[in-house]
Amino acid sequence: RIEAVGIGRTFGPVHALAGVDLTIAAGEIVALLGPSGSGKSTLLRIIAGLDQPTAGDLRFDDRSQVGVPPHQRDVSMVFQHFALYPHLSATDNLVLALRYGRGMSRADARDRAAETLRMLGIADLARRRPAQMSGGQRQRVAIGRAIATRARVVLLDEPMSGLDAKLRVELRVEIVDLLRRLGTTAVFVTHDQAEAMAVGDRVAVMNHGAIEQIGTPDAIYDLPATRFVATFVGSPP
Ligand code: ATP
Ligand code: MG
Repeated sequence: RIEAVGIGRTFGPVHALAGVDLTIAAGEIVALLGPSGSGKSTLLRIIAGLDQPTAGDLRFDDRSQVGVPPHQRDVSMVFQHFALYPHLSATDNLVLALRYGRGMSRADARDRAAETLRMLGIADLARRRPAQMSGGQRQRVAIGRAIATRARVVLLDEPMSGLDAKLRVELRVEIVDLLRRLGTTAVFVTHDQAEAMAVGDRVAVMNHGAIEQIGTPDAIYDLPATRFVATFVGSPP
C-alpha cells in the first residue's frame, strides 16, 4: 500500500504540489489525470524517489520513504520519453536493468528478458536496437523493462505519448492485462480522460497541485465533485 499524506512540493514560489493525500491499495491501478502543469509528474517522481517532498510524508506499507533512495523502493518507472539505451538491443536493455537493478545473474536475466518480450508479443525484436524499431515497439520494450524487474510498484508517466490513437488503445489494453496478471500496483499518468477511465481502477483528477476528486471511473463521470472535474472528464451537464 502506498500512502501520500499531505505531500507538498514547492519550486521557489511555485507550488507544484499543495497537500496531496492519496492511498493506493496493493494491486490497484490508479490513473492520475490532469492538465499540463497540474503536478502529475512531480507526484510520480516523489513516489519513485527521484524527487523529495517539501512537506508531508510518503509511506509504503506504513514505512516512511522519505530519504529512501529510488533503488531501495521496489519501484520501476516508465518515462514520458522512453529512455532506452540506443546502443543496446531490446534484450540487453532488459538484461542491464535486471542485472544492475535487481542483481540477477546474466543467465537469469536473459531468461527473464526473453520471457518478458514474449509476454509483450515482441520476441522478434530481441536483437534489434531502438533505432531499428517503431515508436510503438520502443515503447513496448520500455514497458517490458519496467515490468521485467517485477517491482511491486510500476509508475508510468504518459507512457504512450507520441503514439497514434489506435496503437495507444491496443497498448493500454496490453499494459493493463499484464499489470493485472502480475498483481502489480501501478500509477498511470495521462492527460487523456478516456485513457484514464479505461486504465484506472480509480481515477485521481489533479488540478493546481491537488487532487480534486478520486473515485472509480463511473463515479468521477457520473458524480463529478467540482465544475473543473465535470468539464475535464466531459460529464454531461
Ligand atoms: P505535463 O502534463 O505537462 O507533464 P504535469 O502535470 O506532469 O504536466 P509537473 O511536471 O508535475 O506537471 O509540474 C507541476 C508544476 O511544477 C509546473 O508548474 C511546473 O512548471 C513546476 N515544476 C516541475 N518541476 C520543476 C522544476 N524542476 N523546477 C521548477 N518548477 C518545476
Ligand atoms: Mg508530466
